[in-house]
Amino acid sequence: MIQDITAIYHNEYKEQSPSVGDYIMFADGRSVLMKKDSEVIEYLRYEELDGVEMSFRYLFFLDTEEGVKRFFLGESQALPENIMEKYSFEQQNIFREKKPKMFAFAGITACQLANWYQATKFCGTCGSSLVHDKKERMMRCPNCNAMHYPKISPAVIVAVTNGNKLLMTKYAGRSYKNYALVAGFAEIGETIEETVKREVMEEAGLRVKNIRYYKSQPWSFSDTLLLGFYCDVDGDDNITMDEEELSVAEWLTREEIPTEYDGISLTNEMIMRFKNGEDR
Ligand SMILES: [Zn+2]
Repeated sequence: MIQDITAIYHNEYKEQSPSVGDYIMFADGRSVLMKKDSEVIEYLRYEELDGVEMSFRYLFFLDTEEGVKRFFLGESQALPENIMEKYSFEQQNIFREKKPKMFAFAGITACQLANWYQATKFCGTCGSSLVHDKKERMMRCPNCNAMHYPKISPAVIVAVTNGNKLLMTKYAGRSYKNYALVAGFAEIGETIEETVKREVMEEAGLRVKNIRYYKSQPWSFSDTLLLGFYCDVDGDDNITMDEEELSVAEWLTREEIPTEYDGISLTNEMIMRFKNGEDR
């Protein structure tokens, strides 16, 4: 999966300033600055900024075989021309494909944080300008003391099994056209197991039993923390598809599943695990 990298990700927060060798990340919406015309992902280094005025926000570091790589967010209105000749903003979807994987993970994670900082400038309670907390990755309101933490929405991925068959779906009206699994966000006031039951009922009209937690995945593409579950259909296996959400919902046998391994998403890993009979 995208977070399975050869480095150790350290996100403990500590205010610090960049120095030579550190990576400076820039985001524009869901795009991240990286070197143009490069086969592999390359980010800008602190020394390349050559004294350009801006503020920096520490993000995280990767503990790699070649040593520690620190990542900062650069807060700049406009980057100088000599940098934009060599670098460009690339859409976040590039991180599903491009290597090295530890830089893809760093890029998508930095992108989520950059978007959160961008969207968290004013207090939602009183409207005052927020300030950075000194100890935590959190924005604090100096007026009413409200605390604003990074947005992470828990959501489930559900593999509903029926003997040798798996419930597979395709989304309606989305660019992603491959098979997926039942998925959805947790609602306020429910346990994550209740989210599993509700989502399967809403999307496919099925009851489930034997809900088994599998793994989780930080899915920064959509500010989500995914929690993967396997479960079995309970009773009637006739599907009633939610036609607003889905274009396909059907039972496929292990042999019929066309999905191939992608090494990125939890959904893919869960489908492949069933396809290969590793869930048994
Ligand atoms: Zn406030």
